[in-house]
Amino acid sequence: MQSIIDEIAEQMLLTEDKGKVATYIPQLARVDSNQFAITVALPSGEIFSAGCANTLFSIQSVSKVFTLTLALGKLGDYVWTRVGREPSGDPFNSIVQLEHEHGRPRNPFINAGAIAIADTIMQGHEPKETLAEIIQFIRFLSDDDSITIDEKVARSEQKTGARNTSLAYFMASFGHFENPVEKVLGTYFHHCSIAMNTVQLAKAGLFLANNGINPNSGTAIVSPKRAKRINALMLTCGHYDGSGEFAFRVGLPGKSGVGGGILAIAPGKASIAVWSPGLDPIGNSKLGTLALEILAAKTGWSVFGE
Ligand code: GLN
Repeated sequence: MQSIIDEIAEQMLLTEDKGKVATYIPQLARVDSNQFAITVALPSGEIFSAGCANTLFSIQSVSKVFTLTLALGKLGDYVWTRVGREPSGDPFNSIVQLEHEHGRPRNPFINAGAIAIADTIMQGHEPKETLAEIIQFIRFLSDDDSITIDEKVARSEQKTGARNTSLAYFMASFGHFENPVEKVLGTYFHHCSIAMNTVQLAKAGLFLANNGINPNSGTAIVSPKRAKRINALMLTCGHYDGSGEFAFRVGLPGKSGVGGGILAIAPGKASIAVWSPGLDPIGNSKLGTLALEILAAKTGWSVFGE
């Protein structure tokens, strides 16, 4: 495994077209696109890394896997009254489907869906309290208390968040919101701004590769059935309107973020985190996807067979 990922990391550094960093969040535009990291975490506890696996990056939409998990834990099937389970086929920040579907976003991973999930988790609490709960959950999963929110990124997102603010108020106009819109947005922007490295992220995803059990602590985070379902949503919706392409090329459940991170799950085998800040036009990490494509081909880990 170490030699496979060392080779991948080397190949990525030599690849010329590294994609373009996100610029609509000014703080993310400052990140050097010339970086690559990969970590493969196995249920046995073994961890393999290559590239700058200690460098922190903004996990952005990868955080939506953890907020969905928390929401399902608190509210079970009620979550599905607020968001659907279908791929949207539209960009992550699209507003077009929301009117037709009466303010119930297609899935929990597009921005509108994740904002609705943030609303369900809050249950009348302040953003600070909800964020403390989200961070605590991720720290527990990663077995690492150093994980925090990058306040600069959060402020940057909030300042330029006109589209997300529009999505939230539009949904609230259908009467679904339980908490004040501005507080829900504050929670959403901040959980997207959690900073992690690939080691922490791969460890945090292990429960999804291990039937719902976090091998670090032996704790059941979710039932095997729920782990399967979260993986199914990651496969079908985790890369927005690039989900079909990601399934075609990589063949693993995965969740991307505009910070350039991707968490991919090989059920029963491994949790993999990759990071490279340059994105493709859809907003998914260009080299991250390529690296996972090569890794899946070399290991035979695609869920569709070797
Ligand atoms: N925080 C980002 C946004 O709301 C998340 C988008 C993403 O990572 N795809 O636009």
